[in-house]
Amino acid sequence: TERKKRRKKETDLVEEHNGHIFKATQYSIPTYCEYCSSLIWIMDRASVCKLCKYACHKKCCLKTTAKCSKKYDPELSSRQFGVELSRLTSEDRTVPLVVEKLINYIGMHGLYTEGIYRKSGSTNKIKELRQGLDTDAESVNLDDYNIHVIASVFKQWLRDLPNPLMTFELYEEFLRAMGLQERKETIRGVYSVIDQLSRTHLNTLERLIFHLVRIALQEDSNRMSANALAIVFAPCILRCPDTIDPLQSVQDISKTTTCVELIVVEQMNKYKARLKDISSLEFAENKAKTRLSLIRRSMETCTNCVRFMSITRNSVSGKGRLHRGNYPSPSSPVVVRLPSMSDVPEETLTSEAVLETDITEQQQ
Ligand SMILES: [Zn+2]
Ligand SMILES: [Zn+2]
Repeated sequence: TERKKRRKKETDLVEEHNGHIFKATQYSIPTYCEYCSSLIWIMDRASVCKLCKYACHKKCCLKTTAKCSKKYDPELSSRQFGVELSRLTSEDRTVPLVVEKLINYIGMHGLYTEGIYRKSGSTNKIKELRQGLDTDAESVNLDDYNIHVIASVFKQWLRDLPNPLMTFELYEEFLRAMGLQERKETIRGVYSVIDQLSRTHLNTLERLIFHLVRIALQEDSNRMSANALAIVFAPCILRCPDTIDPLQSVQDISKTTTCVELIVVEQMNKYKARLKDISSLEFAENKAKTRLSLIRRSMETCTNCVRFMSITRNSVSGKGRLHRGNYPSPSSPVVVRLPSMSDVPEETLTSEAVLETDITEQQQ
Protein backbone atom coordinates (compact mmCIF):
# COMPACT_ATOMS: atom_id res chain seq x y z
CA THR A 1 0.00 0.00 0.00
CA GLU A 2 2.93 2.30 0.65
CA ARG A 3 3.98 1.73 -2.94
CA LYS A 4 0.53 2.71 -4.08
CA LYS A 5 0.69 5.91 -2.07
CA ARG A 6 4.01 6.84 -3.58
CA ARG A 7 2.83 5.86 -7.04
CA LYS A 8 2.89 8.77 -9.41
CA LYS A 9 -0.37 9.45 -11.11
CA GLU A 10 -0.73 9.08 -14.85
CA THR A 11 -1.38 12.81 -15.07
CA ASP A 12 2.22 13.50 -14.10
CA LEU A 13 3.49 12.08 -17.37
CA VAL A 14 5.39 14.42 -19.58
CA GLU A 15 4.08 15.13 -23.08
CA GLU A 16 6.32 16.41 -25.82
CA HIS A 17 4.87 18.40 -28.69
CA ASN A 18 6.24 21.03 -31.09
CA GLY A 19 9.38 21.29 -28.99
CA HIS A 20 7.45 21.93 -25.80
CA ILE A 21 7.92 19.63 -22.87
CA PHE A 22 4.55 19.69 -21.15
CA LYS A 23 4.19 18.59 -17.58
CA ALA A 24 0.94 18.30 -15.68
CA THR A 25 0.04 21.10 -13.35
CA GLN A 26 -2.89 22.75 -11.59
CA TYR A 27 -3.34 26.49 -11.45
CA SER A 28 -4.32 28.14 -8.21
CA ILE A 29 -5.02 31.44 -9.95
CA PRO A 30 -7.30 31.92 -12.97
CA THR A 31 -5.22 31.34 -16.08
CA TYR A 32 -6.22 31.45 -19.71
CA CYS A 33 -5.39 28.57 -22.01
CA GLU A 34 -3.02 29.79 -24.70
CA TYR A 35 -4.56 27.34 -27.16
CA CYS A 36 -8.34 27.67 -26.79
CA SER A 37 -8.32 31.03 -24.95
CA SER A 38 -10.84 29.87 -22.39
CA LEU A 39 -10.25 29.80 -18.68
CA ILE A 40 -8.37 26.96 -17.03
CA TRP A 41 -10.38 26.29 -13.88
CA ILE A 42 -8.65 25.42 -10.65
CA MET A 43 -9.91 21.83 -10.86
CA ASP A 44 -8.97 21.46 -14.54
CA ARG A 45 -6.06 19.31 -15.57
CA ALA A 46 -3.59 21.76 -17.01
CA SER A 47 -0.25 21.51 -18.76
CA VAL A 48 2.69 23.85 -18.71
CA CYS A 49 5.81 23.73 -20.86
CA LYS A 50 8.90 23.25 -18.74
CA LEU A 51 10.92 25.36 -21.15
CA CYS A 52 8.78 28.31 -22.29
CA LYS A 53 5.98 28.14 -19.66
CA TYR A 54 3.27 27.89 -22.34
CA ALA A 55 0.09 27.20 -20.36
CA CYS A 56 -2.92 25.29 -21.60
CA HIS A 57 -5.51 22.67 -20.73
CA LYS A 58 -4.12 19.17 -20.66
CA LYS A 59 -6.51 18.27 -23.49
CA CYS A 60 -5.20 21.21 -25.51
CA CYS A 61 -1.47 20.65 -25.21
CA LEU A 62 -1.20 18.20 -28.11
CA LYS A 63 -3.39 20.38 -30.34
CA THR A 64 -1.35 23.55 -30.17
CA THR A 65 0.43 24.57 -33.34
CA ALA A 66 2.62 27.13 -31.56
CA LYS A 67 6.25 26.05 -31.54
CA CYS A 68 8.18 26.19 -28.30
CA SER A 69 10.12 29.45 -28.15
CA LYS A 70 12.73 28.01 -25.80
CA LYS A 71 13.15 24.78 -27.71
CA TYR A 72 16.74 23.78 -27.45
CA ASP A 73 18.42 23.74 -30.82
CA PRO A 74 21.02 20.98 -31.04
CA GLU A 75 22.72 22.98 -33.80
CA LEU A 76 23.35 25.86 -31.43
CA SER A 77 24.87 23.97 -28.54
CA SER A 78 27.32 21.13 -28.62
CA ARG A 79 26.67 19.91 -25.09
CA GLN A 80 25.81 16.22 -24.93
CA PHE A 81 26.05 15.35 -21.23
CA GLY A 82 23.44 16.22 -18.64
CA VAL A 83 21.03 17.48 -21.30
CA GLU A 84 17.38 16.41 -21.61
CA LEU A 85 16.96 13.65 -24.17
CA SER A 86 14.36 15.68 -26.05
CA ARG A 87 16.99 18.38 -26.60
CA LEU A 88 19.37 15.96 -28.27
CA THR A 89 16.80 14.50 -30.61
CA SER A 90 14.65 15.79 -33.43
CA GLU A 91 12.48 14.40 -36.19
CA ASP A 92 15.58 13.60 -38.25
CA ARG A 93 17.65 12.44 -35.31
CA THR A 94 15.54 10.03 -33.29
CA VAL A 95 18.51 8.85 -31.22
CA PRO A 96 21.13 11.33 -29.90
CA LEU A 97 24.30 11.57 -31.96
CA VAL A 98 26.48 10.64 -29.00
CA VAL A 99 24.46 7.44 -28.43
CA GLU A 100 24.70 6.43 -32.09
CA LYS A 101 28.39 7.14 -32.14
CA LEU A 102 29.33 5.28 -28.95
CA ILE A 103 27.00 2.32 -29.49
CA ASN A 104 28.07 1.84 -33.10
CA TYR A 105 31.72 1.91 -32.12
CA ILE A 106 31.31 -0.58 -29.27
CA GLY A 107 29.09 -2.76 -31.46
CA MET A 108 31.86 -2.85 -34.02
CA HIS A 109 34.91 -3.14 -31.75
CA GLY A 110 33.77 -4.28 -28.32
CA LEU A 111 31.27 -7.07 -28.86
CA TYR A 112 33.80 -9.76 -27.98
CA THR A 113 35.83 -7.81 -25.40
CA GLU A 114 35.84 -9.60 -22.07
CA GLY A 115 34.09 -7.57 -19.37
CA ILE A 116 32.79 -4.92 -21.75
CA TYR A 117 30.81 -2.34 -19.68
CA ARG A 118 31.88 -4.05 -16.44
CA LYS A 119 35.52 -2.98 -16.60
CA SER A 120 36.26 0.70 -16.27
CA GLY A 121 38.63 2.87 -18.27
CA SER A 122 41.22 5.32 -16.95
CA THR A 123 39.63 8.28 -15.19
CA ASN A 124 41.70 10.87 -17.04
CA LYS A 125 40.90 9.41 -20.42
CA ILE A 126 37.20 9.23 -19.55
CA LYS A 127 37.28 12.92 -18.64
CA GLU A 128 39.10 13.78 -21.85
CA LEU A 129 36.68 11.88 -24.09
CA ARG A 130 33.69 13.31 -22.29
CA GLN A 131 34.97 16.84 -22.78
CA GLY A 132 35.70 16.10 -26.40
CA LEU A 133 32.16 14.88 -26.99
CA ASP A 134 30.70 17.87 -25.17
CA THR A 135 32.72 20.22 -27.36
CA ASP A 136 32.26 18.62 -30.76
CA ALA A 137 30.82 15.11 -30.73
CA GLU A 138 31.02 14.77 -34.48
CA SER A 139 34.76 15.27 -34.82
CA VAL A 140 35.89 13.06 -31.91
CA ASN A 141 37.89 10.10 -33.17
CA LEU A 142 37.02 7.13 -30.96
CA ASP A 143 39.99 5.16 -32.30
CA ASP A 144 42.11 7.30 -29.97
CA TYR A 145 40.48 5.71 -26.91
CA ASN A 146 40.50 2.34 -25.21
CA ILE A 147 37.22 0.44 -25.58
CA HIS A 148 36.61 0.46 -21.79
CA VAL A 149 37.02 4.24 -21.74
CA ILE A 150 34.36 4.52 -24.44
CA ALA A 151 32.03 2.13 -22.59
CA SER A 152 32.51 4.07 -19.33
CA VAL A 153 31.72 7.36 -21.05
CA PHE A 154 28.53 5.91 -22.50
CA LYS A 155 27.39 4.77 -19.05
CA GLN A 156 28.20 8.24 -17.72
CA TRP A 157 26.11 9.84 -20.43
CA LEU A 158 23.15 7.66 -19.41
CA ARG A 159 23.64 8.43 -15.71
CA ASP A 160 23.86 12.16 -16.42
CA LEU A 161 20.49 12.37 -18.16
CA PRO A 162 18.38 14.81 -16.10
CA ASN A 163 15.52 12.34 -16.52
CA PRO A 164 16.81 8.77 -16.90
CA LEU A 165 15.99 6.68 -19.94
CA MET A 166 13.18 4.79 -18.20
CA THR A 167 12.12 8.07 -16.54
CA PHE A 168 11.46 9.11 -12.95
CA GLU A 169 7.75 9.32 -13.73
CA LEU A 170 7.49 5.62 -14.54
CA TYR A 171 9.98 4.33 -11.96
CA GLU A 172 7.30 3.22 -9.54
CA GLU A 173 5.26 1.70 -12.36
CA PHE A 174 8.18 -0.46 -13.46
CA LEU A 175 8.76 -1.63 -9.91
CA ARG A 176 5.09 -2.36 -9.42
CA ALA A 177 5.09 -4.54 -12.55
CA MET A 178 8.09 -6.40 -11.12
CA GLY A 179 6.04 -7.21 -8.05
CA LEU A 180 3.53 -9.28 -10.04
CA GLN A 181 3.62 -13.00 -9.30
CA GLU A 182 3.45 -14.75 -12.67
CA ARG A 183 6.38 -14.19 -15.00
CA LYS A 184 3.99 -13.76 -17.93
CA GLU A 185 2.10 -11.10 -16.00
CA THR A 186 5.35 -9.37 -15.10
CA ILE A 187 6.49 -9.29 -18.73
CA ARG A 188 3.14 -7.91 -19.85
CA GLY A 189 3.24 -5.37 -17.04
CA VAL A 190 6.75 -4.16 -17.83
CA TYR A 191 5.98 -3.84 -21.55
CA SER A 192 2.81 -1.89 -20.85
CA VAL A 193 4.89 0.57 -18.82
CA ILE A 194 7.43 0.77 -21.66
CA ASP A 195 4.47 1.66 -23.88
CA GLN A 196 3.89 4.75 -21.77
CA LEU A 197 7.36 6.15 -22.44
CA SER A 198 7.55 9.18 -24.69
CA ARG A 199 8.73 8.58 -28.24
CA THR A 200 12.16 10.11 -27.52
CA HIS A 201 12.82 7.92 -24.52
CA LEU A 202 11.45 4.86 -26.26
CA ASN A 203 13.64 5.30 -29.35
CA THR A 204 16.85 5.55 -27.35
CA LEU A 205 15.84 2.76 -24.97
CA GLU A 206 15.14 0.48 -27.93
CA ARG A 207 18.50 1.32 -29.43
CA LEU A 208 20.26 0.58 -26.13
CA ILE A 209 18.43 -2.69 -25.48
CA PHE A 210 19.15 -3.97 -28.98
CA HIS A 211 22.82 -3.14 -28.37
CA LEU A 212 22.76 -5.02 -25.04
CA VAL A 213 21.11 -8.00 -26.74
CA ARG A 214 23.93 -8.14 -29.26
CA ILE A 215 26.47 -8.10 -26.42
CA ALA A 216 24.64 -10.74 -24.36
CA LEU A 217 24.47 -13.01 -27.42
CA GLN A 218 28.30 -13.08 -27.34
CA GLU A 219 28.42 -14.01 -23.66
CA ASP A 220 30.78 -16.91 -24.41
CA SER A 221 33.45 -14.42 -25.46
CA ASN A 222 32.71 -11.28 -23.45
CA ARG A 223 31.45 -12.98 -20.25
CA MET A 224 28.60 -10.47 -20.05
CA SER A 225 25.27 -12.20 -19.53
CA ALA A 226 21.95 -10.36 -19.57
CA ASN A 227 22.17 -10.36 -15.77
CA ALA A 228 25.71 -8.96 -15.70
CA LEU A 229 24.64 -6.20 -18.12
CA ALA A 230 21.53 -5.45 -16.07
CA ILE A 231 23.61 -5.04 -12.90
CA VAL A 232 25.69 -2.43 -14.73
CA PHE A 233 22.89 -0.65 -16.62
CA ALA A 234 19.93 -0.66 -14.22
CA PRO A 235 21.43 2.13 -12.04
CA CYS A 236 22.04 4.15 -15.23
CA ILE A 237 18.61 3.86 -16.84
CA LEU A 238 16.15 2.97 -14.07
CA ARG A 239 17.03 5.36 -11.27
CA CYS A 240 14.67 6.30 -8.48
CA PRO A 241 13.52 9.90 -8.04
CA ASP A 242 15.31 11.86 -5.31
CA THR A 243 12.06 11.99 -3.38
CA ILE A 244 12.36 8.32 -2.54
CA ASP A 245 13.72 7.32 0.83
CA PRO A 246 17.38 6.24 0.32
CA LEU A 247 16.81 3.06 2.30
CA GLN A 248 13.90 2.17 0.05
CA SER A 249 15.98 2.84 -3.05
CA VAL A 250 18.62 0.37 -1.84
CA GLN A 251 15.89 -2.21 -1.36
CA ASP A 252 14.65 -1.49 -4.89
CA ILE A 253 18.00 -2.36 -6.51
CA SER A 254 17.30 -6.06 -6.94
CA LYS A 255 13.97 -5.21 -8.59
CA THR A 256 15.41 -2.63 -10.97
CA THR A 257 18.16 -5.06 -11.96
CA THR A 258 15.68 -7.88 -12.56
CA CYS A 259 13.52 -5.49 -14.57
CA VAL A 260 16.34 -4.50 -16.94
CA GLU A 261 17.47 -8.12 -17.18
CA LEU A 262 13.93 -9.19 -18.05
CA ILE A 263 13.74 -6.70 -20.91
CA VAL A 264 17.12 -7.79 -22.30
CA VAL A 265 16.21 -11.49 -22.01
CA GLU A 266 12.79 -10.93 -23.59
CA GLN A 267 14.27 -9.02 -26.52
CA MET A 268 16.94 -11.69 -26.83
CA ASN A 269 14.26 -14.37 -27.08
CA LYS A 270 12.40 -12.35 -29.68
CA TYR A 271 15.63 -11.86 -31.58
CA LYS A 272 16.43 -15.58 -31.45
CA ALA A 273 12.88 -16.48 -32.46
CA ARG A 274 13.18 -14.15 -35.42
CA LEU A 275 16.49 -15.74 -36.39
CA LYS A 276 14.82 -19.15 -36.13
CA ASP A 277 11.95 -17.87 -38.26
CA ILE A 278 14.39 -16.62 -40.83
CA SER A 279 16.33 -19.88 -40.95
CA SER A 280 13.18 -21.99 -41.09
CA LEU A 281 11.87 -19.71 -43.82
CA GLU A 282 15.16 -20.15 -45.63
CA PHE A 283 14.86 -23.89 -45.16
CA ALA A 284 11.29 -23.80 -46.47
CA GLU A 285 12.41 -21.59 -49.32
CA ASN A 286 15.17 -24.03 -50.29
CA LYS A 287 12.77 -26.92 -50.00
CA ALA A 288 10.25 -25.06 -52.14
CA LYS A 289 12.97 -24.23 -54.65
CA THR A 290 14.05 -27.87 -54.87
CA ARG A 291 10.48 -28.97 -55.24
CA LEU A 292 9.78 -26.26 -57.79
CA SER A 293 12.76 -27.29 -59.91
CA LEU A 294 11.61 -30.92 -59.68
CA ILE A 295 8.17 -29.89 -60.85
CA ARG A 296 9.70 -27.75 -63.59
CA ARG A 297 11.79 -30.67 -64.75
CA SER A 298 8.85 -33.04 -64.79
CA MET A 299 6.85 -30.36 -66.59
CA GLU A 300 9.61 -30.16 -69.19
CA THR A 301 9.34 -33.89 -69.54
CA CYS A 302 5.61 -33.58 -69.96
CA THR A 303 5.98 -30.82 -72.52
CA ASN A 304 8.38 -33.07 -74.35
CA CYS A 305 5.87 -35.90 -74.10
CA VAL A 306 3.21 -33.74 -75.62
CA ARG A 307 5.49 -32.75 -78.44
CA PHE A 308 6.60 -36.32 -79.02
CA MET A 309 3.05 -37.46 -78.98
CA SER A 310 1.88 -34.96 -81.53
CA ILE A 311 4.73 -36.07 -83.77
CA THR A 312 3.68 -39.66 -83.26
CA ARG A 313 0.08 -38.76 -83.96
CA ASN A 314 0.96 -36.96 -87.15
CA SER A 315 3.16 -39.76 -88.28
CA VAL A 316 0.62 -42.44 -87.45
CA SER A 317 -2.45 -40.61 -88.73
CA GLY A 318 -1.57 -41.50 -92.30
CA LYS A 319 -1.43 -45.16 -91.40
CA GLY A 320 -4.91 -44.89 -89.92
CA ARG A 321 -4.08 -46.51 -86.58
CA LEU A 322 -2.18 -45.87 -83.38
CA HIS A 323 0.87 -47.93 -82.59
CA ARG A 324 0.75 -47.77 -78.84
CA GLY A 325 -2.83 -47.77 -77.67
CA ASN A 326 -4.93 -44.68 -76.98
CA TYR A 327 -3.08 -41.56 -75.84
CA PRO A 328 -4.90 -39.03 -73.71
CA SER A 329 -5.43 -35.63 -75.26
CA PRO A 330 -2.36 -33.31 -75.17
CA SER A 331 -4.22 -30.86 -72.95
CA SER A 332 -3.83 -33.18 -69.98
CA PRO A 333 -0.10 -33.76 -69.98
CA VAL A 334 0.03 -35.15 -66.46
CA VAL A 335 -1.25 -38.56 -67.46
CA VAL A 336 0.61 -38.65 -70.74
CA ARG A 337 2.62 -41.80 -71.20
CA LEU A 338 6.01 -41.62 -72.78
CA PRO A 339 6.16 -43.21 -76.22
CA SER A 340 9.44 -44.90 -75.44
CA MET A 341 12.64 -44.41 -73.47
CA SER A 342 14.80 -43.71 -76.48
CA ASP A 343 12.59 -40.83 -77.62
CA VAL A 344 13.21 -38.85 -74.43
CA PRO A 345 16.44 -36.88 -73.98
CA GLU A 346 18.17 -38.31 -70.93
CA GLU A 347 18.40 -35.13 -68.85
CA THR A 348 14.65 -34.58 -68.87
CA LEU A 349 13.95 -37.98 -67.37
CA THR A 350 12.74 -37.79 -63.81
CA SER A 351 12.24 -40.90 -61.79
CA GLU A 352 8.49 -40.59 -62.27
CA ALA A 353 8.94 -40.34 -65.99
CA VAL A 354 11.13 -43.42 -65.94
CA LEU A 355 8.53 -45.21 -63.86
CA GLU A 356 5.82 -44.26 -66.32
CA THR A 357 7.94 -45.52 -69.20
CA ASP A 358 8.55 -48.79 -67.39
CA ILE A 359 4.86 -49.32 -66.91
CA THR A 360 4.21 -48.50 -70.54
CA GLU A 361 6.83 -50.96 -71.68
CA GLN A 362 5.57 -53.65 -69.33
CA GLN A 363 2.06 -53.20 -70.63
CA GLN A 364 3.13 -53.84 -74.16
ZN1 LIG B 1 7.58 25.40 -24.77
ZN1 LIG C 1 -7.57 24.97 -23.78
